[in-house]
Amino acid sequence: MMGKKTLVKRIVLTVVVLFVGIIISMIIYDRATINKEYGIYEKNIQIPVFVYHDIVNEESEIKFDYMQTTEETFEKQILGLKNMGYDFISYEDLQKYKNNQKKLKKHSCVVTFDDGYEGVYENAYPIAKKYNIPIVMYVITDNIGMDGVITWEQAKEMQDSGLVTIASHSTNHPEFTSLSTKEAVENVNKSYELIEQNLGSQKTKIFTYPYGLYTDEQIEALQAEGYIQNLTDNKINKSKDLDLARLHRCYPLSDSPAKMILKIIYRSIRYN
Ligand SMILES: [Zn+2]
Repeated sequence: MMGKKTLVKRIVLTVVVLFVGIIISMIIYDRATINKEYGIYEKNIQIPVFVYHDIVNEESEIKFDYMQTTEETFEKQILGLKNMGYDFISYEDLQKYKNNQKKLKKHSCVVTFDDGYEGVYENAYPIAKKYNIPIVMYVITDNIGMDGVITWEQAKEMQDSGLVTIASHSTNHPEFTSLSTKEAVENVNKSYELIEQNLGSQKTKIFTYPYGLYTDEQIEALQAEGYIQNLTDNKINKSKDLDLARLHRCYPLSDSPAKMILKIIYRSIRYN
């Protein structure tokens, strides 16, 4: 007769072999279907929208990890995601996908930057050009041209490259929960008036809430005005309930590309 210990060993071994087999099959399947494109009703895909703030020259400049990423780390993340088959898309792509006018690759993501830092112009924009990826900068319109913030000329230059969308992060970065709905709408409309005055008319109007603070009434009012809206809640968008008035965004921080992917998988399961 088989000893109890031997039996336990065999069961553990079988479970491990099965588990490894499942993981390997999942990776093989993922690699084989990496370039497949799906419409909104075809497959439930995860679409992370990454939120960065400033991209700095070196490690010593990092004071808050959620606000600053080095140029080197940013490039590694972009390259890592690219190597893993990620496609970098714009909000226009996302809108067309939502309206069933466009298909997306199984691994698609959006790259965004809040607050309009000059470091994005100096350090991230060259990388966006190098790898030909679209990026979005959410600017605080009253702050444009201030110390450490991009100028309208830089904004125009980036927009003219065709890779950068300049969008709104309000006129003055207030806590929206302390504004009435009317004041909130006026604030965002005013910021877009300034953007259009300086950069010409914009096809898509996109807004991101300062500090991630909002009321449901504000979301509805801005949606009625035609704005795509972002939250900053560290969650991952899933195509089955993709909401352009409440797009989730997550922080890549200074994570390795592998850690970014693990976090995307974890958060997709955790916040189902
Ligand atoms: Zn902000």
